[in-house]
Amino acid sequence: MNKIATYNLKAAKRIIQKAVEQKQYTLLEPDAKELIGAFGITTTRRMVASSASEAIQAATSIGYPVVLKIVSTDISHKTDIGGVKVGIKDDEGVRTAYEEIIRSVKDRKPDAMIIGMLVEEMATPSTEVIVGGLRDPQFGPAVMFGAGGIFVEIYKDVSFRIAPVEEYEASDMINEVKGSKILKGFRNTEALDIPALVQTIIQVSNIMVSIEEIKEIDLNPILIYTKGIKAVDARIILSSL
Ligand code: ADP
Ligand code: MG
Repeated sequence: MNKIATYNLKAAKRIIQKAVEQKQYTLLEPDAKELIGAFGITTTRRMVASSASEAIQAATSIGYPVVLKIVSTDISHKTDIGGVKVGIKDDEGVRTAYEEIIRSVKDRKPDAMIIGMLVEEMATPSTEVIVGGLRDPQFGPAVMFGAGGIFVEIYKDVSFRIAPVEEYEASDMINEVKGSKILKGFRNTEALDIPALVQTIIQVSNIMVSIEEIKEIDLNPILIYTKGIKAVDARIILSSL
């Protein structure tokens, strides 16, 4: 059976179509998360609020602790401008975080168009990895894996394959990077769910193969657990042609 057929390709295409119509070539985080969700990648429970009191309502229905993040058509690296607050424990915390984020964004990027505030579940902290997709002008769709944090940023310890990738290729990609040793468990740490990570790489490969409009995907970070994974950030860039 063709695995791609079991995904909600229609829902994904609708998100792309809406973004193209609005000339929004970097998808907003909630849209990027809906798209990866349509391909079966586990991501955060979330809602978009447009006032502090709406954010409190959202947090109450999602359940504490929560994370607040700016949603703006002009901002893709949110932390750089004070656009992310994690570990918020109660209503008062949501109000304060909401106000601080808005103030910081207006201060550091006054022209940014603010769409709202993403309120999402705070995922249990764990080892962070990166899965990406890109479209190479010469080789076409490709996928990338990195073991996260300093391994990627300082050592550029990443692996690539041309998409579509088979299960064994996704496994090889993980084994190839030095940082993946931390996923396998050592001393008193438990082994993390590498098969779930293999599936995530395949799912990103499927997205790149089946949606030609996508130029780049960045799932940074994905949290990996002893059972399952969770993508807590998603960035998708479309080709502007
Ligand atoms: P940026 O646009 O700066 O990359 P992220 O959405 O990646 O923003 O958030 C910054 C960091 O905050 C992440 O690298 C992750 O460590 C943490 N984080 C973000 N969202 C969540 C979440 N829902 N649960 C737990 N941690 C999160
Ligand atoms: Mg990020």
